[in-house]
Amino acid sequence: MSLLDVLQKESEEVLAKKVEDKPEESIISPATNDIQIESKEEDVKPEISEKPKGDVFDEDEIPEIVDEIFKKAIEMHASDVHFKPTDDKFEVYYRIDGNMIEHKVYDRIFHNPIIARIKIISSLKIDEHRLPQDGKSSYKGTNKEVDLRVSILPTQYGEKVVIRLLEKNPEMVNLRDLGMLPNILMKVEKHLQGTYGMILAVGPTGSGKSTSLFSMISTFNAEEYNISTLEDPIEYKIPNVTQTQINVEIGFDFPDGLRTLVRQDPDIIMVGEIRDKKTASLAVESALTGHLVFSTLHTNTATGTIQRLLNMEIDRFLITAAVKLIISQRLIKKVCSNCREKYEVPKKYYELFKEQTDIDPQKAFLYKAKGCDKCNNTGYKGRIGLFEVLEMTPAIEELIIGNASNAEIEAQAVKEGMILLKKDALYKAITGDITIEEALRVML
Ligand SMILES: [Zn+2]
Repeated sequence: MSLLDVLQKESEEVLAKKVEDKPEESIISPATNDIQIESKEEDVKPEISEKPKGDVFDEDEIPEIVDEIFKKAIEMHASDVHFKPTDDKFEVYYRIDGNMIEHKVYDRIFHNPIIARIKIISSLKIDEHRLPQDGKSSYKGTNKEVDLRVSILPTQYGEKVVIRLLEKNPEMVNLRDLGMLPNILMKVEKHLQGTYGMILAVGPTGSGKSTSLFSMISTFNAEEYNISTLEDPIEYKIPNVTQTQINVEIGFDFPDGLRTLVRQDPDIIMVGEIRDKKTASLAVESALTGHLVFSTLHTNTATGTIQRLLNMEIDRFLITAAVKLIISQRLIKKVCSNCREKYEVPKKYYELFKEQTDIDPQKAFLYKAKGCDKCNNTGYKGRIGLFEVLEMTPAIEELIIGNASNAEIEAQAVKEGMILLKKDALYKAITGDITIEEALRVML
């Protein structure tokens, strides 16, 4: 029976059953529902035609087609895959570095079987088409394994699926490759020599805070130090580091974890996030009792972090004694170095550069995003961090204890060499790392 016939009879279950009935070909492991298929070494699979030949196609192809979509997504470092039906087509997109990239447009006839296949591998109801569904699965590519978070939404054209890809063991970024200016990097490396105190990475969601923390922690020799982390969720697996998953649902939260951790004789502690008073006060206490504590906070500026800790009722004196460094950061799209186009700084930006930097805009250049094969014609490739690093110096301590305003603290920090996020952004526009448009977005 051809798939077309099956579809015409509106019985997708037949297809689903057919796939399930063939364990030797099935790529589902019954215990975990994980896809276990090993990608072949050579890459000579025939191109999937956009239209099925003669309006019929073999349903046995479907697992392979879905597989190919994930394989390609991993190769291209996509964060999400979108399966979007329209009135006469079925479109598949990848989100790469924040941009939507069209992967392939299939004939509408592929919609139901592909969605059914996705439902099977993520243990969702095949015959449910009217309600949203959420599921999980995983996919094993050539060298990488990813977790799949599947979301299905009924739309006017049928079910739309968006799948988030989460790398199981993402590559750790080296501290020197985050994009810190040399003098900022020196400051950070100096504080990593300390034996106690707190180093905080702050910024909104998706600003790369955990990446920064992990790249700092991975500079320590895990065999020499007792390094323990509390995370929700565990993002990177680091050899020789004790990592603990917080699980609030069963009543195991950050404060519980921290109380136990300090009894485990740690040298270095990482607390995934400081969200509440209890965690903040325990983290400060740990930092003051001979531990190097790393954590993140959801604040927008380095100086704003001090205010946040004060709002969490942490004593001024304790803040100045415990906090050593606050790294405020953002993650920005990098302009593709293969196709970027150099141009003179337009006059409208002269004032901005003169106000915020020591750069002479008349002698500097900016870079336009163009688009080429290497960047999927988006003009952007990869990301880079922007950093504003506040060091706890005697003058800053004095201001905090004296109840100075954020603006006063910031002014003093700048006087002592702190580079504001917007200044770092303008520097990176001039050096060709980012476009002026992206730089301006952090100044909003
Ligand atoms: Zn390019």
